[in-house]
Amino acid sequence: MEENENKLASSVYTRIKNHYEALRSDIGHDQRRSSEYGFANCKCCMTNYPDIQSVWSQKNYKFLENAYDPKDCNDANSHLCVHPNLWENGASNHLSGVFEVLKDKIYQVRGYDMSNITFVRSNPNGNDAPRWFVMDTLMSNECTDAAMILFERYLRQDLLKSTYPDYMLKGSVVGMIISHSHIDHYGGMETVMDYFIDPKNPDNKGKIIENSDDEDDGKNTENAKESKDDVKKVANCFILAPAGFYDHAVSENVYLGNAMGRRASYQYGSFIKPKNDNDLCGEISIGIGQGQSTGKPSAVGRPTIEISENVKLQLDEIVVECQLTPGTEAPAEMNNYILDYKALWLAENCSGTLHNLYTLRGAEIRDAKAWAHFLMEAAVKYGNDAKVIFQSHNWPHWQNDTTGKVVNKSVPTVDIRNFIIETAAIYKYIHDQTLLYMNMGYKMNEVADMLVLPRGMQKNWTLKPFYGTPVHNAKAVYQKYLGWYDANPIHLQELPPEQLAKETLRYVMAGSREKMLSMIGEDIAKGNYWIAAYMSNQMILSGDCDDIADNVRNLCATALRQLGYQSESGTWRNAYLSAAYELVNPKLQPDQDKSDQLAQMPPETLLDYISIFFDGELAAAKVDCDKVLAVLKDNNYTYFTFVVKNGAILYYEITANEYNSSKSKIDVTFDELKSVAVGAYKGKCGVLRDISNALINVASYKRFKYFDIVGRHDSEVMVRNGKTFDLKKEVYDCIQLLEKYVGKLENEKSVVVLSNVDKLCWHNYYQLLKKDTRVTLDGDFFIPGDETMGIGNDGKFMQYELYYTLYTLYRYLYRSYLKNDYGYKGNNFDEESFAKLKQSIVLLETYVADYYLGDSESKVYFEKGDFEAWRYLNNYTTPLLEQSPFRIANFFKELYKRYKELSCEIKSTVKNFFLESIKGNKEWIKVYNASHSRIQCNNVELNGVSQNDSIVVDVAHIKDVAIVESFYETGKEKFVTGRLVYRK
Ligand SMILES: [Zn+2]
Ligand SMILES: [Zn+2]
Repeated sequence: MEENENKLASSVYTRIKNHYEALRSDIGHDQRRSSEYGFANCKCCMTNYPDIQSVWSQKNYKFLENAYDPKDCNDANSHLCVHPNLWENGASNHLSGVFEVLKDKIYQVRGYDMSNITFVRSNPNGNDAPRWFVMDTLMSNECTDAAMILFERYLRQDLLKSTYPDYMLKGSVVGMIISHSHIDHYGGMETVMDYFIDPKNPDNKGKIIENSDDEDDGKNTENAKESKDDVKKVANCFILAPAGFYDHAVSENVYLGNAMGRRASYQYGSFIKPKNDNDLCGEISIGIGQGQSTGKPSAVGRPTIEISENVKLQLDEIVVECQLTPGTEAPAEMNNYILDYKALWLAENCSGTLHNLYTLRGAEIRDAKAWAHFLMEAAVKYGNDAKVIFQSHNWPHWQNDTTGKVVNKSVPTVDIRNFIIETAAIYKYIHDQTLLYMNMGYKMNEVADMLVLPRGMQKNWTLKPFYGTPVHNAKAVYQKYLGWYDANPIHLQELPPEQLAKETLRYVMAGSREKMLSMIGEDIAKGNYWIAAYMSNQMILSGDCDDIADNVRNLCATALRQLGYQSESGTWRNAYLSAAYELVNPKLQPDQDKSDQLAQMPPETLLDYISIFFDGELAAAKVDCDKVLAVLKDNNYTYFTFVVKNGAILYYEITANEYNSSKSKIDVTFDELKSVAVGAYKGKCGVLRDISNALINVASYKRFKYFDIVGRHDSEVMVRNGKTFDLKKEVYDCIQLLEKYVGKLENEKSVVVLSNVDKLCWHNYYQLLKKDTRVTLDGDFFIPGDETMGIGNDGKFMQYELYYTLYTLYRYLYRSYLKNDYGYKGNNFDEESFAKLKQSIVLLETYVADYYLGDSESKVYFEKGDFEAWRYLNNYTTPLLEQSPFRIANFFKELYKRYKELSCEIKSTVKNFFLESIKGNKEWIKVYNASHSRIQCNNVELNGVSQNDSIVVDVAHIKDVAIVESFYETGKEKFVTGRLVYRK
């Protein structure tokens, strides 16, 4: 038993990661809970934890009622085996019972299944007993029934006690609206229909009734349509659903029912539910609920009306507007605005978590761009008017009052328009950044690895990746636009997993590169071309066979050629032969003389183009706007709401009147907008100038234009005159050049002047790294638009320039090593220090965007939580009341130092890299400070004992002094730097 417990316990890496996350989110310590928990807990009318006929139970989730406690212990039941944010989401979804959305008008039963059932009062006026319509059912009839019984109990015991103590919900439901084609929204349909007001009424059952005031029904339909609001009255017992609901619901659940069902059990944790109320090692939450009920769902019912346009409907006594959102969370989906209550139902489009563009059970890819578009539509149409937003998963959010003050302190509030826009922005950001990286030539897994959410998104509780994640959503965008094939023909027809595993193992067992090479040769001789191509390609991609590269590439090309010769498919033959060609020849790309594509675009397509090539990650902190935009093309104006939020550019077309009534306008010609799209805008509008400066003209960098398809990225970057560079090697050499000057910086204001020889070298690097390949940004970064001010252009480096440049170079080489499962940890750090080192880089990097287009005087303050997380990662123990901000130079110096430590650690074991002396003579230094209390150095004399090898010195072990062969002094602080060389 004990052994079993230990296996389940969290590791030191896991505990550090989760403790850090708890600090960052400002929860856990002193029983602090998240703001979202506050929303979820708010306006509870009746608490009741369901335990329904073994199809649904909340009873084993009781442990989530305790606040997260990041107390570090190696115990299977330590909270640290759960991500603190997921804990809060689980705790919020555990809250069960009847909740008020709007007093007397809208109620939800939550926690009774993965989704919510919502009751909207349809007769707010007069003294009749309340009637309701239902918005979305739960997943199964059992749960839906239990929820309706609970709601009825609440009405009798509390809300209507004085007026209708014997109130019956049965016979009081006038109809239902089903938001979309997923079963957790219609599975309880049959149960709800049993509660319908008049199920036997044969006339107009749930259909649109033409304007009842018109005597000559039918003749006046046209007038009725043009009447002011064009509200159509719907008869009782309605079932409304968006167009396509029935077909999509049937196809999704029938065609692939078996495959999706089996796959879904992993996604929903069907077999790992908590075994008792203190079992923390199983399922916690699925982000949009506690899990799925296992009761009996209704068969898909036919709606009485499928809504196919955005109409206003009168349902009983209230008016509800329909906003169709096809292609968002489901192929058929709609939002609704309840005009009488100013309440906005956002279906499953804005559910307080990052949702799925691809769902793990498997489904067609969802359209991130459409999703963002329809949320922008909702924000523009209803965002300023709505008092509350609510949806079929998770909990409502209430609007601040107009002055931005909180009306009722017990109710947390948001700015609803902004709330919706921020959700739209995350889908748009993931969409646009993915397309940007795809255009640069990165493959699906590379894009997912590179995509980083700006801090504004990371910190937003309602955008956390509880359900969808940026990683699998980025892959979804890739899949939507480019599909499964990454253009490397070896992947056209891969061996199935089991056979590939066998082959891989056969090669691995060979034991050495030389043996692998001869096996590849043998496989070619035997006609096993695919595996020969695959294995040689692995050797190329690893980058660890550069000394035998020609040999490996020839083998790979030979195998591919034979595959091509055997192909019946002309396109396959071409792909194999092209890859074979490029493996042994320079890469080619036809230079097409393109017509001016941008000029042909309608304004909205040009805006799309701009948003795709906008470097959202870097510009996120700098560019932020919420304006209206008029674009003049061919004497016609097109008007948009134009928003830049957290690195995403969003727009939505509006009318001239809407444009004119806005206070902050941008008015541009189409040509001006075109100049933004190529990063050359010189006009007066600050926002457009910032966007233009942050635009990446991908095709103008040969690094991207001739991106690698079969080989390793950047191993042969072609720049001027057809000369090729191994970019990683160049970056490495450039680091060596610049690191010589680190020690020469005396204080914050000091400037280093390069020697004449180095200055010449630097100018070449500057051209290569900035202008040709965009590895570093420097000049544009700090002083946009001034080419002469490029870093080091004048042969001088300010302190911040030098550290910034070194940081970007290290980042280019080592960024991927920050992942836990990548990067070879040496033996110089203990697990805890190494985990904290990586995490501290990740944390600092969320602040890099704060400097984009900033200036040398910029300072950075950590946000709430981040400061505590930073202190934790650095083992600071003394309490501090106030944080001192980072000056720009110190900020980049921290990043530089940490990346350097990371690189030392990675290189120390795998390739035997050591610090090499730069100055010849030994000198005495005092070590006051070094990040993580450790310094990596060479030929050290520590406390009187000489070490001939490279070691890491724990500063705590230095009594007075240490002798280090290579070091530099900077002001008060002394730390070791040097250059890394490979010693066999
Ligand atoms: Zn759904
Ligand atoms: Zn759902």
